[in-house]
Amino acid sequence: MILVLNSGSSTLKYSVWDGAKDVAKGTIDRIGTMKSALDEAFGALGNAVVEAVGHRVVHGGGRFAEAVLIDDAVEQAIDELGAIAPLHNPYALEGIRAARERFPGIPQVAVFDTAFHHTLPARAYTYAVPGNIGIRRYGFHGISHQYVSERFAELVGKPASELRLITVHLGNGCSMCAVEHGKSIDTSMGFTPMEGLVMGTRCGDLDAGAVLHLLETRQTQPADLRETLNSGSGLLGMSGISNDMREILGAAVAGNQQAAAAVDVFYYRARKYVGSYLAAMNGADAVVFAGGIGENSPEVREGICKDLDALGVSVDPNANGSNSTGDRQIGFGRVAVWVVHTREDLLIANLCSQLTKTTCSAA
Ligand code: ADP
Repeated sequence: MILVLNSGSSTLKYSVWDGAKDVAKGTIDRIGTMKSALDEAFGALGNAVVEAVGHRVVHGGGRFAEAVLIDDAVEQAIDELGAIAPLHNPYALEGIRAARERFPGIPQVAVFDTAFHHTLPARAYTYAVPGNIGIRRYGFHGISHQYVSERFAELVGKPASELRLITVHLGNGCSMCAVEHGKSIDTSMGFTPMEGLVMGTRCGDLDAGAVLHLLETRQTQPADLRETLNSGSGLLGMSGISNDMREILGAAVAGNQQAAAAVDVFYYRARKYVGSYLAAMNGADAVVFAGGIGENSPEVREGICKDLDALGVSVDPNANGSNSTGDRQIGFGRVAVWVVHTREDLLIANLCSQLTKTTCSAA
């Protein structure tokens, strides 16, 4: 069996896959240390015989273009990449260290959220700044974008190499990806996960000049501004209510103007990105929604797709608002619109089994 761990700042998510089905799955709030959260997760495994462990690692930088078996050198590289992913990599590293200690001799694999975007052409990953500054766009959520695009190809029975897709991952973090012939050619997150769409607590696209203005005129410390833009902005910052889309939609319906305005900005930003990826690929076969918001909110899908009919994108109100769940088509225009349930843990388990030659790959 394969144990998949996603060690984040506030939660530890784990799942156990036996090759055909989930054996265990859970999310542990990290009130205590990573060690105590992992002990709880390991305790929940019962008698499951763990043959391999797959870890979600947010940042693989320019170094990791694909999943790798973890050894000391890989562990060190993930540690070093913490310099550009201070909010993410240290937690993955804690999980890796604890799991290597708990399962000595069992192969462990790192699967990077940046790896799928290694195919970005230079024109998409380059910021228009002097090259020696040393920043570029990496893109994140790659595990979800890859899973969703491959799953879509499977659902429609076409090779990924014949499809142009716009995958829209809307969870607490939100990002979009242009997947051309199975490869990521553009994505909305950049050097950090802060760029792009409006998110639960992150601002998304923001003028670099505005950041400088705030630092220069408000005597704001960089760390405080980072906190504001990462954890106090987005839906939470604009609405003043919550980062939870359900609560904001509810408040907007109840007449809260700030909540309604926040939702409007969220929709408009996402709609502009759909348009720009249609331009990037000169059209698309489908827009595919995933993530907690993308999978569960007909209002949001409708709000983003409305007024895109001239570009061939529209959702069918009956299919979109129906009570059916699971992977399904909800728009039937020139560009189809679909909902696909993302399973990052399954892609990690699959890559893990390929690399470790265990027999637990998914069908
Ligand atoms: P994470 O990115 O942490 O994995 P999820 O993918 O679970 O998070 O997404 C969480 C978001 O999904 C929250 O904003 C939550 O409000 C939203 N969400 C879940 N169900 C619904 C729903 N029925 N309608 C609108 N938003 C929803």
